[in-house]
Amino acid sequence: MKTAIIGAGIGGLATAVRLASRGHEVSVFEANSYPGGKLSEFSLDAAGGSYRFDAGPSLFTMPHYVDELFEAAGVEPNFVYDRQEIVCQYFWDDDTRLTAWADPERLAEEICEKTGVSKPQVKRIFESAKIKYQTAGSVFLENSLHRPNTWFSLKVLKSLLMMPRFDIFRTMHDTHRSLTGHNPKLTQFLDRFATYNGSNPYRASGMLSVIPHFEHGIGCFYPQGGMFEITKAVYGLALKKGVKFHFNTPVEEILVEKGAARGIRTAEGTSDFDRVVSNMDVYFTYNRLLPNEKKPEKTLAQERSTSGLIFYWGIKKQFPELHLHNIFFSGDYKKEFDALQKGEICDDPTVYVNITSKLTPGDAPDGSENWFVLINAPYNAGQNWTELVEKTRANVLRKLSAILKTDVASLIETEDLLDPLLIEQRTASFAGSLYGTSSNSLMSAFARHPNFSAKLKNLYFVGGSVHPGGGIPLALLSAKIVDEVMG
Ligand SMILES: Cc1cc2nc3c(=O)[nH]c(=O)nc-3n(C[C@H](O)[C@H](O)[C@H](O)COP(=O)(O)OP(=O)(O)OC[C@H]3O[C@@H](n4cnc5c(N)ncnc54)[C@H](O)[C@@H]3O)c2cc1C
Repeated sequence: MKTAIIGAGIGGLATAVRLASRGHEVSVFEANSYPGGKLSEFSLDAAGGSYRFDAGPSLFTMPHYVDELFEAAGVEPNFVYDRQEIVCQYFWDDDTRLTAWADPERLAEEICEKTGVSKPQVKRIFESAKIKYQTAGSVFLENSLHRPNTWFSLKVLKSLLMMPRFDIFRTMHDTHRSLTGHNPKLTQFLDRFATYNGSNPYRASGMLSVIPHFEHGIGCFYPQGGMFEITKAVYGLALKKGVKFHFNTPVEEILVEKGAARGIRTAEGTSDFDRVVSNMDVYFTYNRLLPNEKKPEKTLAQERSTSGLIFYWGIKKQFPELHLHNIFFSGDYKKEFDALQKGEICDDPTVYVNITSKLTPGDAPDGSENWFVLINAPYNAGQNWTELVEKTRANVLRKLSAILKTDVASLIETEDLLDPLLIEQRTASFAGSLYGTSSNSLMSAFARHPNFSAKLKNLYFVGGSVHPGGGIPLALLSAKIVDEVMG
């Protein structure tokens, strides 16, 4: 079986490993000169030395989906990661600082002390997230929702019957308000998990209150050496299984004959394949690579997830109060999401700072730190990004400087930027969305594009823009589903 994979994002790489392990002859065509798509890295030089940055994802959850690839390939894992004792450090403008410990007892104690919500109540909140995940979450993430046999399994039927008890008819925010007894800080802490898939807690269904379980139940992990080690591990595995990579080779068309995909066209010519898997955003797969085929208009018109503005800063100072993951909350979360909904960024956005040099000291020169500073941003709809970036950079610096009581701007010795336009340019993600389509509507989970084409035989889809959605774990799951549906 000769299979072409379009794109070497983490979903494309994982599919390559799985199919090659089953004996397919796999060729991956990648537009960039490097593997990993959004999961890539780069360095910035400065007077004090070199800073390394993970360009995209910074949070690693569900590492077992990477382990499974080694198992599928029958190769001894050489990919090492550690569970983090401190999941995240939270800061509010009123000087409240909350350490989110991995240990449930310490976490409950800390939340109780900083928010006033009782320990048993805090534990009940995380327990309810776990039950949602175990009963329904995992079932809908790990299976194709577009094949009848999925719906006839006992587990799925049981999950469906339980769904009305899982807050699906109220918003995530209302669910959290009710779970916390209307506690504003703990509600904001929990609402933040909507941004894990680029959604809005004031619109998304309460089912999404399952997400805290990923980080606090299953765990927050760090690959030794940084996030790009995930790409290196899976790419290395693919090479070991004989996958052939063609970098700097954008695919220009998926060739179709008699209702079936039969190959691809690049600048170098056409090549025949038995199967084609697209890891390119499904929106552009249809619009650019299948110009003559009927498009699933409704699916492609779904609301996109949010994007991000990322400032990569080389900071010539170390901050002992900061950890690997740090969140500086906005004073008015509702206002922040209302602005995003309107395609804007509010003047007091929540700021996320990731510092890998805390765990990999070589990522920054001595006495310095590599700050990856992310602000939720709307997807690109033609905004003036130069103006928005300039305004937001000033607002972010003001906020961080006030909370850390230091003039952060004066510590930046080198910097770079990623915005929705660059995200689309570098990875062909429509409108620069980080996670494909949003999960703001009740039916989002069911409305994503399937992992296969219902119209064209031998055509499959993998990655963050299709089922089960965006983020590394889900992109890895989509590869597993593609492998299964291919049979
Ligand atoms: C700033 C940022 C922060 C994020 N934070 C997190 C996080 O903390 N945790 C997390 O789990 N996830 C996070 N994500 C989301 C995560 O990165 C993505 O969901 C995931 O990496 C998507 O993988 P993918 O397989 O869909 O492919 P992508 O990474 O989107 O890659 C697609 C690949 O296809 C290639 N391609 C496209 N068109 C063609 C063509 N015509 N021919 C050849 N090649 C083509 C592209 O060049 C690209 O390499 C973040 C994303 C970003 C951008």
